[in-house]
Amino acid sequence: MSDCIFCKIVDGSIPSTKIYEDDHVYAFMDVAPLTKGHTLLVPKQHVKDLFEMPEEVARNLYAAAPKIANAIKSAFNPQGMNTINNNGSFAGQTVFHYHLHFIPRYDETDGLKVKWETKQSEFTQEVLKSFGEQIREKLNL
Ligand code: AMP
Ligand code: ZN
Repeated sequence: MSDCIFCKIVDGSIPSTKIYEDDHVYAFMDVAPLTKGHTLLVPKQHVKDLFEMPEEVARNLYAAAPKIANAIKSAFNPQGMNTINNNGSFAGQTVFHYHLHFIPRYDETDGLKVKWETKQSEFTQEVLKSFGEQIREKLNL
């Protein structure tokens, strides 16, 4: 897509610090990282978000993910790593070409909050069962 910043990174018309590339995916350092080693993995094909991702693209993208995670782990020996993908601006997506963040974690003061306050008391087993049914109906298995 001509006005997409990550398509331009993939085709080399915008510079990036490349980590990995194969026929299907491209991984590069996030220009505004949260922690040392914060990396982005994108499909070469322009796909806006997870909702629009063809299965084949997902297969190829995730096939590369462990390689990248392990390379970052070997390089910097973090305590842990979050892989995060934001879909839609409400969920925090700012670049509308799918990307998976690899965020190595070194200490709890790095500014990433991934703990949430559970609303478990609002969701009884009956309610969860009904939600499950509603989602399954849409899967067209
Ligand atoms: P998100 O908010 O999940 O859409 O993440 C977009 C990410 O892309 C942010 O973490 C940005 O720092 C990163 N980003 C934006 N432009 C560039 C660029 N030219 N090179 C590398 N990373 C970028
Ligand atoms: Zn794109």
